[in-house]
Amino acid sequence: MGIARKMREMNEKSSTIRKMFEEGLRMKAQFGVDNVYDFSLGNPDVPPPARFSQILQQVAAEERPGVHSYMPNPGFMATREAVAARVSREQGLKLAGTDVVMNCGAAGALNVIFKAVLDPGDEVLVPAPYFVEYGFYADNHGGVLKTVACDAQFNLDLNAIEAALTPKTKVVLLNSPNNPTGQIYPAAALNELGALLDRASRKFGHRIFMVADEPYRNIVFDNNTVAPFMQASTNTLVASSFSKELSVPGERIGYIAVHPDMEDKEALLSALILGLRILGFVNAPALMQRVVARLDGAAVESGVYAQRLAAFCEVLDAAGLEYVRPKGAFYLFPKTPIADDARFCALLQDERILAVPGRSFGLAGHIRLAFCVEEKVIRASAEGFKRAVAAAGK
Ligand code: PLP
Repeated sequence: MGIARKMREMNEKSSTIRKMFEEGLRMKAQFGVDNVYDFSLGNPDVPPPARFSQILQQVAAEERPGVHSYMPNPGFMATREAVAARVSREQGLKLAGTDVVMNCGAAGALNVIFKAVLDPGDEVLVPAPYFVEYGFYADNHGGVLKTVACDAQFNLDLNAIEAALTPKTKVVLLNSPNNPTGQIYPAAALNELGALLDRASRKFGHRIFMVADEPYRNIVFDNNTVAPFMQASTNTLVASSFSKELSVPGERIGYIAVHPDMEDKEALLSALILGLRILGFVNAPALMQRVVARLDGAAVESGVYAQRLAAFCEVLDAAGLEYVRPKGAFYLFPKTPIADDARFCALLQDERILAVPGRSFGLAGHIRLAFCVEEKVIRASAEGFKRAVAAAGK
């Protein structure tokens, strides 16, 4: 039919979340929006901070010649410098504007990184469960995604990571706070991992990059903080975006930050910039870059998500579902009462509750619940969860 065989196969495999999304639309049309408990999508519903909207309006009003033109591929220097200042604060290091390459979201940033560092057959190692798109991003650039299990609390298992490294490992990809578990990796584990990867780089005779995917860095609960990846190894790149912390995922604004002391930094930056161009992104959206340059720390209040988390924990406790309390992001990843997570999702769907099976994230026997819906929706789902658990026991 003309469509590449590989794309047809991928389309089949990747259809769970999309099917869930379409099913959600159908159910909402049938039963009414308030009668469907849709926890399937990590699409932030909290409005962007007022400051974002103010700056957006100011920036949009500033018409001058050339304001919509092409720009240097890595972005406006004022924006790169503003992002460098932010990353410097977060990572406890001094980055320059030239260490930052603006991108189309964290997804674009990861694709550009993989384009720059992967040769065909190179491996990207990721702790499971993981954000399912990673497999596609690695494959886009000839890479192969390899997974390694986390421990029962979804923490890094450093022995398992060491055992999973091969001469083909090029990237270890870490996401903290994590989608789908909400786990934040402690500094001690990152530092140990950094030392381990530096030893393995010497052993294999090529660099293994630590790539930190951090779009949830500023959504944390219970006073948790996100440890700085760049303190763990000079071979670190940060991929991030404003999608989640500003509730603007449709605006596609993100960035790559390169460790200031990275070996061969200039060559890597040139490869990243060329990657951005030839993948067809060319540059990150100009209007959003001008907004981001002036944000000055504006972000959505994590408190809204914290309240929803508290409500969801009550709902899950009452239904007798076990979970590891997330430290950040906006997801819960409870165990299913039966091993077949897809079956449990079907039982939930009978109750008009939409969840994604853990197997879509590389760990069956769980479900992912996104709390990008109002607290009242979470509370209203309580009886449905209880009934689905009871039905699973029959
Ligand atoms: N990484 C993780 C772990 C995500 O959950 C997402 C989006 O859900 C992304 C990257 C992509 O984010 P962006 O919208 O900034 O491209």
